[in-house]
Amino acid sequence: MSVVRENRESCLILWIDNPPVNALSQEVRAAILAGVTAAASDAKVQGIVIACKGRTFIAGADVKEFGAPPTEPFLPDVTAAIENSPKTVVAAIHGQALGGGLEIALACHYRVAAKGAKLGLPEVTLGLVPGAGGTQRLPRLIDPIVAAEMITSGKPVDAARAQASGLVDAIAEDHVAEAVKFATTKSVAGRRLSERAFQLDAEKFEALAAATRKQAKGATAPGAAIDLIRRTAGKSFVEGMREERALFLHLRSTDEARALRHIFFAERASSKAPDDIGDVKPADIKAVGVIGAGTMGTGIAMTFLDAGLKVRMLEMSDEALSKGLARIQSSYQDSMTKGRITEAQRDQRVGAVSGSTDYASLSDCDLIIEAVFESMDVKKTVFKQLDAVAKPGAILATNTSYLDIDEIAASISRPDAVVGLHYFSPANIMKLLEVVRAKRTSPMALVTALAVAKTTNKIPVVAGVCPGFIGNRMLRAYVREAGLLLLEGATPEQVDKALTNFGMAMGPFGVADLSGIDIGYKARKEMAPGSFEPMAVTVHDKLVEAGHLGQKSGSGFYTYTGGAKAPNPAALTFVEEARSKAGRAARAISDAEIVERTMLALVNEGYWIVEEGVARSLDDIDVVYVNGYGFPRHRGGPMCYARQLGLGNVVKSVTGFGEGSYGKWWPISPALAKAAAAS
Ligand code: NAD
Repeated sequence: MSVVRENRESCLILWIDNPPVNALSQEVRAAILAGVTAAASDAKVQGIVIACKGRTFIAGADVKEFGAPPTEPFLPDVTAAIENSPKTVVAAIHGQALGGGLEIALACHYRVAAKGAKLGLPEVTLGLVPGAGGTQRLPRLIDPIVAAEMITSGKPVDAARAQASGLVDAIAEDHVAEAVKFATTKSVAGRRLSERAFQLDAEKFEALAAATRKQAKGATAPGAAIDLIRRTAGKSFVEGMREERALFLHLRSTDEARALRHIFFAERASSKAPDDIGDVKPADIKAVGVIGAGTMGTGIAMTFLDAGLKVRMLEMSDEALSKGLARIQSSYQDSMTKGRITEAQRDQRVGAVSGSTDYASLSDCDLIIEAVFESMDVKKTVFKQLDAVAKPGAILATNTSYLDIDEIAASISRPDAVVGLHYFSPANIMKLLEVVRAKRTSPMALVTALAVAKTTNKIPVVAGVCPGFIGNRMLRAYVREAGLLLLEGATPEQVDKALTNFGMAMGPFGVADLSGIDIGYKARKEMAPGSFEPMAVTVHDKLVEAGHLGQKSGSGFYTYTGGAKAPNPAALTFVEEARSKAGRAARAISDAEIVERTMLALVNEGYWIVEEGVARSLDDIDVVYVNGYGFPRHRGGPMCYARQLGLGNVVKSVTGFGEGSYGKWWPISPALAKAAAAS
């Protein structure tokens, strides 16, 4: 780290150079403070510019200091020193000005941005509020409602929007030269935000408050930020700062902030190659092949097209191929209409995909991903044909959800080229990618898969081979308990509501309707009889047999008429029938019990998975659940949640479930018992 002082004309430029993202470490804070203080009494210096070397302005706090007690100089003191400087201070922003970085910029008297810069206060995503004036200066600079939106959503805005709102004063090609001009020609008069006041438009603000609470799905930081802004509107800056700091310090030690920090670090760790891999460089991936242009294949193709790669699709028939390509086209058309991409981007992406029914078209692809029907025979046939045409060194991936990748790999002449790339639907949207390391997957195939995840903006987690890998294997336990709760007295709606109130994006029965109840039904036909609990799926089976397949047939656990979702009376009848078949009387079941049963099913299975080496760590499991299964991020994932409950309590409950009627599904994981004993 260094902060270099450059004198340019009568301007002092403080160049921050703290790679990779110019994080606001203690040393950087101290150097900015020292620079600003020295310039104040230097008659030769007329103005000060704070600029950064490398790819970005200050992109936030130093992650090494996350969760630790703040160290001097405290950021609010640094921002106060900047703002109180008698010399004009200008922030020259390129890349990202996030969190503390934007708070530094807000303390400056002017802000000049380079094109493409992004500015934001993402603290709520870590369970916090800005702690160095962000919540007080921003509403004093721009429309307080727009400010409150930025603070409560945590989402950054681009330079153009920032300029339109008044957050930046200019956008310039040479942002540093422009900032120097500002610093040497403009006065500080009227530019200290602490000297301004802000008031809220009550109606608009309360509408935002209500929307914020809804979107937060149980996370408390966004609501705390709203309350803070409401409370401090009209108050003095000094009072506002005091309240902001107190809230910031309080939130840092909440379970929510801990959980969000946990998942932040877990996501960074999950993309690292396993320790035993050694120093292997990933292969260069230029051309990608995708086999099967169905739901998953088209989504996977778009993931690569979005990242600027070329994709070749392969299908069984011209008809299926055209259908798949048309789906890609209409999806990009839709994105363009919604303003998410430009016309040029649409043309570029649509132009980068081609298709064929001839395997020879894949002969120069560096990576080929198979997403055909979930059948071992079909997959083996596809891999055999691939084996015959793929170039040496090509990586051959399968998107199978449950099938044995070792068996697929063993069926061809180059098993080391085979890796699982398990995407989640919709594949171009969902962040999670399970990278399945089969017995013979080469280190090169594995590191390339991890590198591909990065270039395509996915969060990878390495999994071993077992039915369902990490996520779907755990899901089975969760879905089983949800199904058994119906027999004991709960309704599908009650189960779903309890879990969405807990923070899950959807409940298990809503999910079943969305993906099609028949999918699981068909899959169970192929499964060994003792491998699942038939009583947990009696309602599912009855629904499918009566033609209630879920949303696609207009009804499942719910009915969907005219866009309105309501409990399906047929499903409730099947629940009653299943209860009497199981010989059980309905009892009152609390939402807390629903959450406990389903969550601890995930937790116990998660420990088993780590114990068996299918997942590398408990943290990886949390990454899977938060990014692939709609688990509430602010709870940090199921394994983090278990620790917050206390592992001793978890063991007690799991042991209790093990003594119930379906106790055979609750063999306690020795790793869980051991961890509880050690905690
Ligand atoms: P899908 O039925 O929508 O698409 C499969 C496509 O593969 C069809 O277009 C079909 O014409 C084509 N196909 C079949 N055999 C082929 C062959 N021999 N050669 C070329 N093309 C062939 O199915 P999907 O939902 O996209 O699932 C595909 C795979 O992805 C399955 O293995 C599934 O388990 C897995 N998967 C699905 C999801 C999901 O949510 N749908 C999620 C993760 C993984």
